[in-house]
Amino acid sequence: MSESVLSQILISLADLKASQQLLADKVDKIQADAVSSKDDLLPHKVAHYHNSPGHSDSDVDTIVSPSFEAEHAGIYTEKPVITTYEGQKGVRPSKMNWGEADPKARGPVVVSRLPNSINVRNAIGAYGGPYSIYRALAIAMGDLPADHKPNFDNTQPPITIKQQPQWADASKIVSMDPFGHLTNHYYKSEIEKGLDVRPTIAITRAHMIVPEVQAALASGEMKVDGKVIVNESGELNVHKAAVDPVWYLPGVAERLKVDEDHLRRSLFENTGGMYPELITRPDLKVFLPPIGGLTVYIFGNHELLSDPSTRLTVRVHDECNGSDVFGSDICTCRPYLVYGMLESIKEAQNGGVGLIIYFRKEGRALGEVTKYLVYNARKREGDSASKYFQRTQDVAGVKDMRFQALMPDVFHWLGVTKIDRFMSMSNMKHDALIEAGIKILERCPIPDDLIPPDSKVEMDAKIAAGYFTTGRIPREEELCHTVGRGWDEFQH
Ligand SMILES: [Zn+2]
Repeated sequence: MSESVLSQILISLADLKASQQLLADKVDKIQADAVSSKDDLLPHKVAHYHNSPGHSDSDVDTIVSPSFEAEHAGIYTEKPVITTYEGQKGVRPSKMNWGEADPKARGPVVVSRLPNSINVRNAIGAYGGPYSIYRALAIAMGDLPADHKPNFDNTQPPITIKQQPQWADASKIVSMDPFGHLTNHYYKSEIEKGLDVRPTIAITRAHMIVPEVQAALASGEMKVDGKVIVNESGELNVHKAAVDPVWYLPGVAERLKVDEDHLRRSLFENTGGMYPELITRPDLKVFLPPIGGLTVYIFGNHELLSDPSTRLTVRVHDECNGSDVFGSDICTCRPYLVYGMLESIKEAQNGGVGLIIYFRKEGRALGEVTKYLVYNARKREGDSASKYFQRTQDVAGVKDMRFQALMPDVFHWLGVTKIDRFMSMSNMKHDALIEAGIKILERCPIPDDLIPPDSKVEMDAKIAAGYFTTGRIPREEELCHTVGRGWDEFQH
């Protein structure tokens, strides 16, 4: 290569670098302008923008198409704010004192980017977890006005979950907002003034019908009591709470024993850079992650949950759609869930309380796609207990991503300090609760007659790996003899 060609290349490279810097500066300026003009997005100015669609007083190129801008004038900032920076002009996060006992002093979780909220946001992410994406689609398609103001009349909980001292302990609750069901009550005036604050917990009461309860009634194993099992058709009385995750990042980092900056960087990188404020706004400590939450089912008197003299039966269940709903027999998920439910109902009928906590952590939080890939590998290679965890590890890189360390928060929210009967064999769930200071008096393995034959592989592998059992622990060399159904059986 001649020297002149080389120098030409070098000059071109230098030009490229310069123009990239120019572009970066321009984007920065656009963002700075957009944020500083957020002060202009208070209601009187919103009206102004409404009256002058397409308005533009900027000398920088806008990356918003004119029609988009006109259509959404006053709803979104004039130019999209890709991110904000700590201490930036126009950015005034409303107070957030995580762990404060007084909800007023704690402050509402504000994550909305609507005009009245964007400059006072004190949290990263969006309301609704993964459903924020569906909301975005509905708004994009024009089915939902971006500024729809929810009507929360009569949506308040039918029961009171008594405020517990644990609510005011920033180390005890880090993955949900303990006041999440009371936002409309405590932050009414802020909402009336136009702040977009939404509940992250909803509590309701319901009747439910479970075929296994009906069968237990028919066989005489269970009886109608009129309170928990309401009638001969097996209708159950239940209170339930849906909880969206709200993470206090310093607390989550501490619980997971990692550095907060390191956690933020990993969240940013592994969500495709979806939440740049994880990096640019270290002052924002709260994150509403785009993941599923949990549902609490309470059988019996909820007021007794925090009373240690009341007996409490608990099943902590991680979602397994294939078994829970569709009856797959490769695992023990639905049988264990139902066993936990029946025992919880019996406890409630005897004057205690039964509790089911259902987490949306499909396939050990590896997801259903990974799970099916593992199933294929297991069945093709000869399904044996000795290879059970290894096959998951081979595909996913880890055996499990459920991180039970955050699981006990919901118990602190409910005021639970002691569990009489824990309907789980998981050492990870057990250890997390003990670590959180919650006593477990008895651990109840799933009875043998409820284990589907094909799920014996999973069961033996788990017991050998440390899951609790009152039975015999299979020796390592025995695990290869616990084999599941092969694919051959599907041929006929
Ligand atoms: Zn399962």
